[in-house]
Amino acid sequence: MSEDYSETSVVEAALDAQLRKMPSRVSCTIDFGADGKHFGLMTVPHSRNESAWGSIQIPIICARNGSGPTLLFTAGLHGDEYEGPIALMKLARDLDPGALQGRVIITPTLNLPAIRAATRLSPIDGRNMNRVFPGNRDGTVTEVIAHYVHTELLPMADAVVDIHSGGKTLDFVPSAVMHYLDDSMLMDRTLAAVKAFGAPVGLILRELDNQGMLDTAVEDMRKLFISTELGGSGTSTARSITIAERGLKNLLRHFRLVEGKVETPEAAGHPPTRMMQTPDGDCFTLVKHAGILEMTVDLGAAVEEGQLLGRIHDYEEPAQPPVPYYARKSGMLLSRHAPGLIQRGDCMAVIATDIPPSGPADLYEQG
Ligand code: CA
Repeated sequence: MSEDYSETSVVEAALDAQLRKMPSRVSCTIDFGADGKHFGLMTVPHSRNESAWGSIQIPIICARNGSGPTLLFTAGLHGDEYEGPIALMKLARDLDPGALQGRVIITPTLNLPAIRAATRLSPIDGRNMNRVFPGNRDGTVTEVIAHYVHTELLPMADAVVDIHSGGKTLDFVPSAVMHYLDDSMLMDRTLAAVKAFGAPVGLILRELDNQGMLDTAVEDMRKLFISTELGGSGTSTARSITIAERGLKNLLRHFRLVEGKVETPEAAGHPPTRMMQTPDGDCFTLVKHAGILEMTVDLGAAVEEGQLLGRIHDYEEPAQPPVPYYARKSGMLLSRHAPGLIQRGDCMAVIATDIPPSGPADLYEQG
């Protein structure tokens, strides 16, 4: 009895095959093949006590003119980050499809339930949308949305730009972000796009844990992906929005979807994009104390190894001296804990270092 062709296994195999082919449970009103600009909705079934047969309706915009590359702009995977939603909604309204050569797909608020709640994670299932890719057709709401992006939107895209910020608990020197890639041609193309974005910092990093990220899903398809960290503290600033809007427009020009030259930061009177990295764990300061955080270095400032970064004050015990935290690396303060209170285990500071003049070729050696 070596063959197992019992009736059950045949039925199970057929069901498996059927499931694999089953389309997303998200329905979308956009005809991605149509020229012109269209504001539409991705409807996710969400039946609940307050709404039988209810749904979540996530905005999506598609602008297309003739043939050309497809650029997918996403934001709002985390619901407490604002530069992406603001800049992408403005871009969607301003885009003149007649001036396009190709297609732009925009989802300004992909994790809409988290946007409504102003939370990083979805309030419905507690999931981090940037850790659930490739998603699951039959999973939770967050997984169902990710599955739609993975099976329907990513296959159409030539390049994906995912706009993030630090959210409520981190603040960043505005940065365009990319990963070290083993594919050197894709690495070069991605580096060029990061530079074209024109943020104050271009950050190249290797994720400690890239499982489930949109980044990883796109890179696994051998497509170009860049992300950003444009600010944070659970709000946006005039400066961070300006950087976001300039970056998005620059990418449209860089990928030749619209005519015109990329506007460099220098042209606007700012320093050129500073290419930086976070080469090892010493860049990250995770704290072992709770209390009130007093930073002694501001974002963007130069720091020397051994320099005081900040102190944590025990507000229950004012007689106790605060606990000092020192830089374990020389570089620049790229990111800091945003709220005034800090808890044990929180990330207090991130220090980035300049990429050596020997250039990106060295980067492939990074661990
Ligand atoms: Ca984020």
